[in-house]
Amino acid sequence: MDEIMAEESKYTILVVDDESSNLAVLNKILSPKYTVLTAKSGETALKRIDEASPKPDLVMLDVEMPGLDGFEVLERLRANPVTKDIPVIIISGLSGENDEEKGLFLGAVDYIAKPFKATIVLARVNTHIRLLNQLRTIENLGMVDPLTSIPNRRSFDSRMDLEWRRCMREQKPISFLMLDVDRFKGYNDTYGHPQGDVLLKTIAKIFVGAARRPADLAARIGGEEFGVLLPDTPLENALYIAERLRAEVEAVRLATADGKVITQTTVSVGVATAYPVNGSKIEDFIAVADKNLYYAKNTGRNKVCHMAR
Ligand code: GH3
Ligand code: MG
Ligand code: MG
Ligand code: MG
Repeated sequence: MDEIMAEESKYTILVVDDESSNLAVLNKILSPKYTVLTAKSGETALKRIDEASPKPDLVMLDVEMPGLDGFEVLERLRANPVTKDIPVIIISGLSGENDEEKGLFLGAVDYIAKPFKATIVLARVNTHIRLLNQLRTIENLGMVDPLTSIPNRRSFDSRMDLEWRRCMREQKPISFLMLDVDRFKGYNDTYGHPQGDVLLKTIAKIFVGAARRPADLAARIGGEEFGVLLPDTPLENALYIAERLRAEVEAVRLATADGKVITQTTVSVGVATAYPVNGSKIEDFIAVADKNLYYAKNTGRNKVCHMAR
């Protein structure tokens, strides 16, 4: 529990209210524990959420506002795949007897009536943040590869989906490196499976180290196969990173557990770059990297390929 509490300042709460005095009060209540963003209208709120990266963890939404009201904002958040899971607490004024029902029906997680008590607001927000934290922990359990402690295939797929759509919206290139250990069966046969595991952990660290920008992701996508996703990265830069990774793995010298043998290995890398547009498919993008990897394997291994015919 203490661990969770200590981490709460990392959570961002967007407070939306057309009255500055309400924003000031809520900010005062929440800012000692959370990072607080504010918006004075529904339109501004949607804009801030759209631009925020990462997205706010929780939104507190006033119902009565000129322009887009709280319910309309809530509906729009729910309709967008990127924001549909952000928990929303509705804050309703005196006149809104049916607001609670309507808000909960539209998918709000909670409802607070004005005038509110600071202690109650804080207690409810704390509850939802704690639930969120638990949910993320549970989700993480299925997203991390137990051997290497890096993201697994599921993690990779969901991030690929997200970044693919983002690069489409922003008209940016996305690159993908598919890396496969060369003759790994032989490595296992020679040094034993546990030693093979140590090798996988070692190179996983190298790949994670290469994924330097926040949107980059290195994942274990198969037994001895890794993927590095590089959003907003053109082919030239992807090739540079791929070649660096190939060279770094080649330079690894790993002693066996008894210290008697120094082992080494190599990887082959297939690279793909796409400029996603409506109708282009992630499967095709991955297939290109796969084909290039296959080509690297068939033309000598320990190399980077990006234009197999
Ligand atoms: P290639 O150069 O064509 O990729 O040859 P390869 O031997 O690496 O390919 P192959 O697909 O024949 O063999 C993959 C090997 O990877 C076989 C499997 O035992 C090993 N492997 C897969 N997952 C693990 C793992 O978690 N730990 C260990 N130690 N080995 C694994
Ligand atoms: Mg209002
Ligand atoms: Mg393989
Ligand atoms: Mg292999």
